[in-house]
Amino acid sequence: MCTDGYCEHNVDPLPESEGSGSGPSRRGVLTVGAATAALTLGPMTFAHADDRSGGPGGSAPADGTQVTQTISGHLDTGAADFVYLPVEIPAGVRQIDVQYSYDRPAVPNGVKGNSCDIGIFDERGIDLGGPGFRGWSGGFRTAFSISASDATPGYLPGPVKRGTWHIVLGPYQVAPQGLNYQVQVTLTYGKPGAAFVPNYPPTRAKGRGRDWYRGDCHLHTVYSDGKRLPSEVAAGARAAGLDFMVSTDHNTSSSHAVWGQYAGPDLLIVTGEEVTTRNGHWVALGLPAGEWIDWRYRSRDDAFSRFSRQVRKHGGLVVPAHMYCAYVACQWKFGFDDADATEVWTGPWTYDDEHAVSTWDQKLGEAVREGKRWLPAMGNSDAHSVPNVIGLPHNVVYADDLATDALMDGLRAGRSWIAESSAVKLDFTVTGGGKQAGIGETITLPAQAPVDVRLEAHGVPNGTVRLITDEGQMFQQSLDANGDGVVVWRTTASLAAYVRAEIRHPMADGSPGQGNTMGDALLFGAMAALTNPVFLRVGRGRG
Ligand SMILES: [Zn+2]
Ligand SMILES: [Zn+2]
Repeated sequence: MCTDGYCEHNVDPLPESEGSGSGPSRRGVLTVGAATAALTLGPMTFAHADDRSGGPGGSAPADGTQVTQTISGHLDTGAADFVYLPVEIPAGVRQIDVQYSYDRPAVPNGVKGNSCDIGIFDERGIDLGGPGFRGWSGGFRTAFSISASDATPGYLPGPVKRGTWHIVLGPYQVAPQGLNYQVQVTLTYGKPGAAFVPNYPPTRAKGRGRDWYRGDCHLHTVYSDGKRLPSEVAAGARAAGLDFMVSTDHNTSSSHAVWGQYAGPDLLIVTGEEVTTRNGHWVALGLPAGEWIDWRYRSRDDAFSRFSRQVRKHGGLVVPAHMYCAYVACQWKFGFDDADATEVWTGPWTYDDEHAVSTWDQKLGEAVREGKRWLPAMGNSDAHSVPNVIGLPHNVVYADDLATDALMDGLRAGRSWIAESSAVKLDFTVTGGGKQAGIGETITLPAQAPVDVRLEAHGVPNGTVRLITDEGQMFQQSLDANGDGVVVWRTTASLAAYVRAEIRHPMADGSPGQGNTMGDALLFGAMAALTNPVFLRVGRGRG
């Protein structure tokens, strides 16, 4: 299930107020170029700020002097993806504060009402992937501030330098009546405070050497649209029995700088981002601390490859998230050629996860036929707030150590399986011709040589084990009331190009479920565990 609250914004309107300064022209410039459609409004200027200070003309305003400008405007349905408001920042400013609001006229059921995101770029500009990014809060906040020492979560502390900044609005749902917005900017003059010092988490924790490590790789905090503090997410990861977690707030790197104080020998905290575009979301895992990945493009803009390269250049992973989430702009439209793995299970098990597993399974068949790289499956909670459960589900990864690079290597190679909780344990191997292969590995042997597939499971009372090949479900067996069991099934490389396992909970009526049937009923209960495949290749081998 897509637990993403991103598309259910709840921004309270500002009180009605008169603009306190001369607003910019509402007439903007619409550009549709190589990048996605954007609209640039007339600039907001603070050119007369010096006169307002009461001091002699041309001198800097007194420390603490505040100047406010407000603009309002209207966007019709069909507005550009991003609307830029240039703000001319004069010299001598120590803090910028921004507030915004928009109206929400009533709309019929099934018609989207107004939703407008917000963020900001500094004097370094708004170029795609450029250095100017200073923060994003989506639709989660109505106000933010930035100074050298501090910033609202989602935003990057640092100098407020003279030049043209840009507030960016993302009107991603516009009601048939249009969207009326208001943006208020307050500048505070004065000497900047002490520079903010980031506290990045280490990239290694005290592991157990080469072993299986549990980690949730898709988590939100108050640094985007979650309601949990970083301290609460770290505590939740520990309570869930995880060895590592990845921080993936929407569209910003700002939380990276606070995770250092919550990491420890027992919990590796990996820095990442959920890159939230209009054509789907992807998690960038294992980013260098402070690295930001741009999100201002659609599938048609041909920019995704560039940003996936940016992630890979640093050893990170590109992972499409909740590919069939029904919310606006959440369905995955970028294909999988630039993906290192894909989420097939997001939060509590629902129909969209069932679809995602089917799509992934189909791609396994393509990879076998074409002899190309196969796409490993991942599962993450996408937990935002109570009652979302951190670690439901998570990945169990075979890695050389509890370190970011080793875990990314394990996930990239598909040496991982997905568990609904740390209570679920399994061991899955394929043996034949005197060889053995595990999850994510390949066994090569003569076409007719017998191959024994063995799965040992714990922690899913009365669960149903399914063994699935490129032909579909080939075997099914129930676990006992304690959730334990060993399943053994024999095949050959000529019959199965790969074998993977699922463990399902019983159906609502207590029955185990039944594969290979059709009808109007569901086939199985919720997923409890899902493995990546073991591949069987026909080739020369002993036996
Ligand atoms: Zn998402
Ligand atoms: Zn998310």
